[in-house]
Amino acid sequence: MLVSTKEMLTKAKAGKYAVGQFNINNLEWTKAILLTAEELKSPVILGVSEGAGKYMCGYKTIVGMVNGMLEELNITVPVALHLDHGSYEGCYKCIEAGFSSVMFDGSHYPIEENVAKTKELVAVCADKGLSLEAEVGAIGGEEDGVVGAGECADPDECKMIADLGVTMLAAGIGNIHGKYPANWQGLSFDTLDAIQQKTGDMPLVLHGGTGIPSDMIKKAISLGVAKINVNTECQLAFSAATRKYIEAGKDLEGKGFDPRKVLAPGVEAIKATVKEKMELFGSVNKA
Ligand SMILES: [Zn+2]
Repeated sequence: MLVSTKEMLTKAKAGKYAVGQFNINNLEWTKAILLTAEELKSPVILGVSEGAGKYMCGYKTIVGMVNGMLEELNITVPVALHLDHGSYEGCYKCIEAGFSSVMFDGSHYPIEENVAKTKELVAVCADKGLSLEAEVGAIGGEEDGVVGAGECADPDECKMIADLGVTMLAAGIGNIHGKYPANWQGLSFDTLDAIQQKTGDMPLVLHGGTGIPSDMIKKAISLGVAKINVNTECQLAFSAATRKYIEAGKDLEGKGFDPRKVLAPGVEAIKATVKEKMELFGSVNKA
């Protein structure tokens, strides 16, 4: 059964480790992540962006697929199904469809409107036992063709949103989505420290986990990050493994064209990436 992120993240923050959110794109992605979490006895969060939601034929299809897998694969570790960067409308659709967690990304609204909408969603989620992630300050990255530098959130605004009763808080600390540029300045630990001091026990969320050096990840966890989002890294691993299979001409040998064979190396590559991240984040054997 799907669970909210509340308990897993409270434990993670107290135990100084982080739970990975791995975004899913299809059946293979979901299966690879769930099997790895179960093998490593790690809690896990399956992330779904609105774009991936559309691609997978809607939120109800996803809920059906994930619930089916939890049962058929005998998954016993805590699993949350979470809307990533949700719009106000998207949050309601996912709540309706049976997600156990949503992120309301109100960072593009004026702060007053972000507060009002977040407050409303806090009440709805509390009523249904779901977890809610809020975002303060925009997280940079390649969106609409513009690569942002990765801005830093205002710690006072973070406290204001945290006090509304959200479950976890994403705050920009110089992190960005996608691949990091060569001239990236690194994470701002001063900002993170200031945010943690203002928000206390609130589990903090680090978006854009791909390509952040391991020592920075560990330091971020020591300063209160309890959830780390990984998306691009699984995509790169999947593509590289698939490319290798095709370039080696394996699809032309025997029944190598069978889609289950074509996709297998990519699935193994996702598993290896998820395993590496769970070990780095410290969530192994924490289920
Ligand atoms: Zn994000």
